[in-house]
Amino acid sequence: MKQADNHYTSINQLFSGLITSGCRSGLDEDTNRKIVVINLFAIVGMSITLVLGIRALFSEQLSLGIVLLSSATLFGLCKGVLLHSKLKNNHIIAPALLVLCLISLMLYLVVFGGVAGTGPLWIFVLPPVAMFFAGVFWGVITVGLFIALCSVILFSPDNALLIASYPFEFKVRLLLSFATVTFLSAFYEHSRQTSFIIIRDISEKFERQALYDALTNLPNRRGIQKFIDHEINRAKRQQEHLTLILSDIDRFKQVNDNYGHDGGDIALRHVADLFKEVIRDQDGVARWGGEEFLFVLPTTNENNGVVLAEKIRARLETTPVQIQNTSLTITASFGVAQINLANGLNNALSLADKALYKAKEKGRNKVLSASSLIP
Ligand code: GH3
Ligand code: MG
Ligand code: MG
Repeated sequence: MKQADNHYTSINQLFSGLITSGCRSGLDEDTNRKIVVINLFAIVGMSITLVLGIRALFSEQLSLGIVLLSSATLFGLCKGVLLHSKLKNNHIIAPALLVLCLISLMLYLVVFGGVAGTGPLWIFVLPPVAMFFAGVFWGVITVGLFIALCSVILFSPDNALLIASYPFEFKVRLLLSFATVTFLSAFYEHSRQTSFIIIRDISEKFERQALYDALTNLPNRRGIQKFIDHEINRAKRQQEHLTLILSDIDRFKQVNDNYGHDGGDIALRHVADLFKEVIRDQDGVARWGGEEFLFVLPTTNENNGVVLAEKIRARLETTPVQIQNTSLTITASFGVAQINLANGLNNALSLADKALYKAKEKGRNKVLSASSLIP
C-alpha cells in the first residue's frame, strides 16, 4: 500500500515537474500560467503527432509520416530545449515556435489532405491556441494571415496549389466555420484577459487594504511585520543591532474633543507625514494602533535610537499643523528599546512600551530608553 502511494507521489511529482518547467517566480502569474499551457500543449502535440506520424509511416504515407514526426520533434524541442534553457525570452520564443510549427503542419494538411482528406479538420486547433499564446491582437493577425493563405491555396486557379481535392462547398464551409471559431476564440480570449485584469486589480487593492492604513498611508501592524521579520533575520545573520521606537501622541483625546474627529484625523495625517519624512531610507514606520506609531531602525543601537527619537520629537514639537484655521502644536512621547535577538520581538516591544509609559508619566513630550528604566 505504502509502495503504491510512493509510486503515485513520484508520478505526480514527475507530471507536475513536466508541466511547470520554465515557470519562474520573477514572472507574473499570467505568464507562468501560459508556460504551463505551453508545456501541456507541447506534450500533447508531441504525443499526437508522434503516434500519427508512426502510423502514417506504417501505412506507407511517407511524406505525411515525415512531416508529422518533424512536428513531433519541433514540439519536443520547444518543450525541452527552450523551457529548460537560460534564454531570457524563452516564454515568448517557445509559443512563437509552437504556433509557427502548428501553422506549417496545418497548411501541409490542407494542401495534402492528410488521411482520406480529413487533414483540414485539424485547423480548428489553431485559433484558440494562437489567441491564448499571442493575445487577441497578434492572435487575430496570425490567424487572419493563415485564413488568407488557406484561401489562396484552396481557391487557386485549377487547384494548382492543392494536392488533395475537396468539393467547392466543403472549402467555402471550412473557411466560414473556421472564421466563426476564430471570432469566438478572440472574443473568449478578450473576456479572459479582461476578467484576469479585473481580478488582479481587486486582489492588489485588497492586499493593500490589508497591509496599509487608509488614513495615514503607513503600513499597519500586518504591513510592517514582513519588514520586521526580514530585519530580525538580517540582524542575526550579520550580527547587527536593531532598535524599536514606540511613539504615542500626547493628549490626543483633547484634539478630538476640541476639533472633532475630522480635526483629529488631520492631526494624525500630519504626524504620519512628518514621521515618514524624518526617518532614513532603511528605517520603517507603521501605524501601530489608534495614535500609536512604531519605528523599526536597522543597524541602530539603543543610544542612536534615542538620538533619532529626540530628533523626531523636536521636529514634531516645532512643526505645528493647521486645523480649522488654528495653528496647533502636537507633541508625542517616545519609548526606545533595542531588540535582544535572543529574547525576540515581543520582549523588545514590551520594553519600549514600558519606556513610553514612563515618558508619559514624566510629563509627556519626552524620549526614554528601556535601559534607563533599569535601576
Ligand atoms: P496620552 O497623552 O496619555 O496618550 O493621552 P491621549 O488622550 O492621547 O490617550 P488615549 O489613549 O486616552 O486617547 C487616544 C485617542 O485617540 C482616543 C481615540 O478616540 C483617538 N483615536 C484613535 N484612533 C483615531 C483615529 O483614527 N482618528 C481620530 N480622530 N482619533 C482616533
Ligand atoms: Mg494611546
Ligand atoms: Mg496618546
